[in-house]
Amino acid sequence: MKNNEKRKSGYVALIGRTNVGKSTFLNKVMETKVSIVSDKPQTTRKQILGIKTTEKGQIIFFDSPGIHIPQYKLNERMMKDVHNSLLDADIILYFIDIADKRKDNFIINLIKNSNKPAFIIINKIDKFKKSKALDRINNVKDMLNWAEIVPLSALNGVNVDLLESLIYKHLPEGENFYSKDEYTLQSERFFVSEIIREKVLNLTREELPYTTFIKVHEITDKGKIVYVRAEICVETKSQKKIIVGDKATLIKQIGETGRKDLEEYFNKKVFLDLFAKVSENWRNSTKILSELD
Ligand code: GDP
Ligand code: MG
Repeated sequence: MKNNEKRKSGYVALIGRTNVGKSTFLNKVMETKVSIVSDKPQTTRKQILGIKTTEKGQIIFFDSPGIHIPQYKLNERMMKDVHNSLLDADIILYFIDIADKRKDNFIINLIKNSNKPAFIIINKIDKFKKSKALDRINNVKDMLNWAEIVPLSALNGVNVDLLESLIYKHLPEGENFYSKDEYTLQSERFFVSEIIREKVLNLTREELPYTTFIKVHEITDKGKIVYVRAEICVETKSQKKIIVGDKATLIKQIGETGRKDLEEYFNKKVFLDLFAKVSENWRNSTKILSELD
């Protein structure tokens, strides 16, 4: 960096449908796993904030949950999250999957009305030949007055550095908002619940709806070992049966794979005490919703 260049800092909102690769990009750009990557929709219920500090400045990323039709209370909250993240942002990154031609009219209007510099990120370019990718770029470039149009492969890291430098180009000048080693503001409890939820989703395949909720009751550092007690909350008895599995094999597998990741996260041995519980209609329960905050 030249001496006369001022530091820049600001908030960047990652928006777009689920599965377009927002978390993959965030993990790549942060060079560490801060957000759960899954090939199932709606795994990111909350915004995950990643903070990247370099010699150029500081970028604070929002990994926003996808765009949903308000149907359940939870989804209305998600909509609110998307809306609020736009108001908080200095730059909006609108992600699309190159193979997906659906139009997000609702979100496009939100972006337009926000009057913020918005980039369109055409992700998963690795799936197509160059000529086809160029066609797709031509199709989306006039949707809005984009500040930047960026073809990307978040998975392979193509144009990730370029995108980061374009973000700096549009960020306002300013000092760091957060201390430099604070790469995430998410709580330990949230990380733990996301790790377990990832295992549940991966091991149950399509059998469960995306409504599984992990309640972390206890995380206690006992010196040589971290004790974690958590509940997998599902909506029906039959879903509980799926989670527990024949002779409790599935819940054991969830516990074992989850424990391994938790040990990596805590850098210590972990005892994971895991239960399955029926918690009917939790999506509409205000009490549980408020506990999600
Ligand atoms: P999010 O819901 O937008 O956060 O999407 P994720 O980051 O969880 O990614 C959804 C799926 O798309 C995962 O299976 C990723 O591995 C995959 N994916 C993400 N980026 C790319 C990419 O650039 N190319 C390809 N081929 N797949 C990708
Ligand atoms: Mg995600």
